[in-house]
Amino acid sequence: MTEAMTPAMKLNAPIFVAGHRGLVGSAIVRRLAADGFTRVLTRTRSELDLTDKRAVQAFFAAEKPAYVFLAAAKVGGILANDTFPADFIRENLEIQINVIDAAWRAGVNKLVFLGSSCIYPKFAPQPIREDSLLTGPLEPTNEWYAIAKIAGIKTCEAYRKQYGFNAISLMPTNLYGPGDNFDLKSSHVLPALIRKFHEAKLRGDSEVVVWGTGTPRREFLYVDDLADACVHLFRSYDDAGVVNVGVGDDVSIAELASLVGEVVGFAGRIVYDTTKPDGTPRKLLDVSRLDGLGWKAKTRLEDGIRLTYRWYLESCR
Ligand code: GDP
Repeated sequence: MTEAMTPAMKLNAPIFVAGHRGLVGSAIVRRLAADGFTRVLTRTRSELDLTDKRAVQAFFAAEKPAYVFLAAAKVGGILANDTFPADFIRENLEIQINVIDAAWRAGVNKLVFLGSSCIYPKFAPQPIREDSLLTGPLEPTNEWYAIAKIAGIKTCEAYRKQYGFNAISLMPTNLYGPGDNFDLKSSHVLPALIRKFHEAKLRGDSEVVVWGTGTPRREFLYVDDLADACVHLFRSYDDAGVVNVGVGDDVSIAELASLVGEVVGFAGRIVYDTTKPDGTPRKLLDVSRLDGLGWKAKTRLEDGIRLTYRWYLESCR
């Protein structure tokens, strides 16, 4: 690690958070505001289309951000990824190359690129270490998104190697929290289950349908913990190597469903729709590198589900 590369950050430094309306971007904005940063730059999609190279270059030339968090991406759950492969690969490749290239051209001091744990091979040894990248075939249901994110990591590496651009890549595990997508067709499992259990409770249904067999295992990180890790690594990590960001523990989808049922207060049965895909059997990140860099997740899964359910009740009805 070359600490000298990360200059001490001034509280009035302009910081661009790309994707500030999303789950991750909104958590990073909350976190930077809480830390006292006064010039957090944001643009909605209608103000700045990140797939438009000229618009992105013009934005960077005009605003001259000193730092960038690249949290903008086309994201979605297992069904959305499988249904719209072209959109997932195109939009993510375009957003990444436009933002990374414009940031470098505009003299940005440091950029944080956010990937995803689905970049790792489907059958990578668990827990998944960072050096598993590109050692085997990907999970087919989300390989389009994964390939785009791998290209993003490699773009950061290439710009560092050729131009000395300080771009770091963090790989969060499955995320959830306030600001999540609760649309049943495109969401990830945790918000989907919160909504399904909540609506079943209101209707007085006797059962809730959970996709797949219930046996796949997933690790879930509360998004405010991710924002905390991002800011920690942003201040202290300056290497080319990717860093996993997770909690180091996972649950089966069946266990998750029981937990969400308890938090929401649904007393009926859980049934499994095995016509829906399971996806990868297990996706647990090895977090020893992160540990060594002095960071640990704080929010217990049950507490995070409670906070997310509260946000859903306040915002989504
Ligand atoms: P993944 O981690 O990329 O596979 O994405 P998801 O979060 O969409 O799915 C994780 C697991 O939860 C898969 O095995 C899904 O089949 C399962 N699952 C169970 N019920 C649901 C649901 O209602 N929505 C989603 N998205 N996944 C579900």
